[in-house]
Amino acid sequence: MSIQQDNQFQAIISHAKEYGFVFPSSEIYDGLSAVYDYGPYGSELKKNIRDYWWKSMTQLHENIVGIDAAIFMHPTTWKASGHVDNFSDPMIDNKDSKKRYRVDHLLEAKADQLREKGADEEADALLAKMDALLAAEDFAALRELMMEQKIVCSVSGTANWTEIRQFNLMFSTQLGSVAEESDTIYLRPETAQGIFVNFLNVQKTARMKIPFGIAQTGKAFRNEIVARQFIFRMREFEQMEMQFFVRPGTEGDWYQYWKEARLQWHLSLGISPEKYRFHDHVKLAHYAKEACDIEFEFPFGFKEVEGIHSRSDFDLTQHQNFSKKKLQYFDTEINQNYVPYVVETSIGLDRMFLLILSNAYEEEVIHKEDGSTDNRVVLHIPAKIAPNKLAILPLTKKDGLPEIARDLMNACKPYFKCFYEEKDAIGKRYRRQDAIGTPFCVTIDHQTKEDQTVTIRYRDSMVQERVLMSMVKDMVLEQLM
Ligand code: ATP
Repeated sequence: MSIQQDNQFQAIISHAKEYGFVFPSSEIYDGLSAVYDYGPYGSELKKNIRDYWWKSMTQLHENIVGIDAAIFMHPTTWKASGHVDNFSDPMIDNKDSKKRYRVDHLLEAKADQLREKGADEEADALLAKMDALLAAEDFAALRELMMEQKIVCSVSGTANWTEIRQFNLMFSTQLGSVAEESDTIYLRPETAQGIFVNFLNVQKTARMKIPFGIAQTGKAFRNEIVARQFIFRMREFEQMEMQFFVRPGTEGDWYQYWKEARLQWHLSLGISPEKYRFHDHVKLAHYAKEACDIEFEFPFGFKEVEGIHSRSDFDLTQHQNFSKKKLQYFDTEINQNYVPYVVETSIGLDRMFLLILSNAYEEEVIHKEDGSTDNRVVLHIPAKIAPNKLAILPLTKKDGLPEIARDLMNACKPYFKCFYEEKDAIGKRYRRQDAIGTPFCVTIDHQTKEDQTVTIRYRDSMVQERVLMSMVKDMVLEQLM
């Protein structure tokens, strides 16, 4: 990350805290590493992103239904899914600093350094070699590669490394009181398994016919060893996942379909296509047949925001074997019983939140007509998901203006989130709304009393125009569709 990119990222983190988007968890006790809380505007934005995803899945697709499964699941779930045996990352410790690193992160950082020096081909070759060695789980050769690349610990500055080992990422806890016989259970590391174990419950009760999908949003937990980059990598986070069940043999087409559909979802938020790219996996997860990431250009480079995975019949077959319950579907079109294949789309809500913030944040220099300049920090959050849609601002606290503004507030607030404020100069109030990403501000002034018009100001262009107060609600609603 260049100094400029780093400054930009630090500015976003400070802004998120100062304006009530994201706070470090339990901050009065100095916080908890890689755990965060969402503030008043952050919780609204997060909810709006979740709703936007949920609507696109369960309302716009007639063949997708939702569920809300528990975080705790029967421990055998994680044995069957492969997480107990396979859900781990290769780690290495520096013997001098005692700091622990993920091996792929160290090599990726090296590749970034090479790119900064213009050695793109060398960087690509390094990553390709790393992917191949990770896929082969050849840890001795991976360590050799680190040595060849002269990778040192950022704290001790030495290359005094341990062997590479695997660390399981699941958090475990005990079910039942300590005195009684207890059983180890896990905090779910992904929401997907709640969908698989409910496959037949959902298919039967909602009378679904293949192809169909089950969507779910909810918390997931991973004991990330190297948790960093703000809310990009957290230990407690939220996922939005959809498992699409298809007839075996059709999964290739559905994989292509969902790759495209998910990219379109991102672009429907008005984000530039240049900020996105696909990354096809070389090292496939233990369940995957084909997989790719949708990557976004964060301030610290292109990184995964969403995964599309063709999971074959792996999960349902595993659960069938471990539970001894049939998880099959009778396809009346071909008169056959089978275990459906699955294509999954899996996106991190917090990562999407960071994407929106990174894309929205701008420190803008405003050139005024008299030749002078001014600055503002503005969040260009898409209106559809902005925390507040409309700020209603009476110019003064007197002359009946607040009463008129209150009438407008009452007319609009059942339809979308509004914000009312009468304190401070109007310019200052506009700036505050810019900083939290409110797309529209309406000012009620003395002329309003005469002709029922108000000034509507657009956040991005700062253009102001006079419109009839009775039109405001529909003007805003139109932008939210
Ligand atoms: P990574 O390679 O970044 O660890 P992953 O490939 O393990 O991610 P998946 O298991 O495919 O991630 O999870 C799907 C999505 O969940 C990711 O694309 C990401 O948006 C989100 N996600 C995964 N781990 C975390 C985390 N620790 N914090 C925040 N979001 C996460």
